[in-house]
Amino acid sequence: MRLFLRHIFLSAAGKLAGPSPGIHILNGHILAREGGDPAVFRRLLNSLVPECRLIRIEEAVDRITKGNFPDEPCVAFTFDDGFEEHYTGIAPVLEEFGINAAFFILPGFIGGDETYRDHLHRSVFRKDGFLTIPKAPMSWARVNELHRRGHVIGSHGMHHRPLTGLSPEALAVELDESAEAIRRETGIITDWFAFPFGRLDGISQPVIDVAKRRYHCLFSQDDYRHYFSFGNQVINRRHFEPFWPVSHVRFFLRGERG
Ligand SMILES: [Zn+2]
Repeated sequence: MRLFLRHIFLSAAGKLAGPSPGIHILNGHILAREGGDPAVFRRLLNSLVPECRLIRIEEAVDRITKGNFPDEPCVAFTFDDGFEEHYTGIAPVLEEFGINAAFFILPGFIGGDETYRDHLHRSVFRKDGFLTIPKAPMSWARVNELHRRGHVIGSHGMHHRPLTGLSPEALAVELDESAEAIRRETGIITDWFAFPFGRLDGISQPVIDVAKRRYHCLFSQDDYRHYFSFGNQVINRRHFEPFWPVSHVRFFLRGERG
């Protein structure tokens, strides 16, 4: 009975409180821990459309950086790590809804051999049960194709390393050489960077100072209550995954931002 009443209460609360007005940037990674059906992402977007305006990521960033916040809830998307399913499953669904996303990619992952990818999987992607089986990266040709179709390509570092505590040379590999690799392989000049792991306690002002020499926009995946961290230098994104229950995503979108 108690569970039943709780369910009724939560259902009522969910109906009463819709997404909060302003700009929401949702950052995801995968369609599922194993495999992945684009239908789960389509279902999520279908459930958001009655309550939110889905917008292109450039509009979201432009409005946030100019303080031009709408009275209605607007949602834009980014995806980190550059998995193949971003091309095969996620981008096509975004395009069905008339929007794009920013895809933050890892040149080391794309160019890495089997041993390299296995190491990255074990040391980064498998942690915390995020991925149970390895997933392949997008090829450079597919990165190029996404860009041609109107998506934004950004850097997520070269090797997905934490950036604090690196030598200046190693930091330059993550920040400068990753952007240079994207330019060399695709011709795309990017000035957007999403910090690997996304946590604000893994970012420091000296790292931001170096990053700002190369990139115009920096993104975390932390402190979603605030649009910015480190003054107005880092734009905060809200973590989600396309396979999460719709109610979870709606719950996070109800939070006030400022
Ligand atoms: Zn990542």
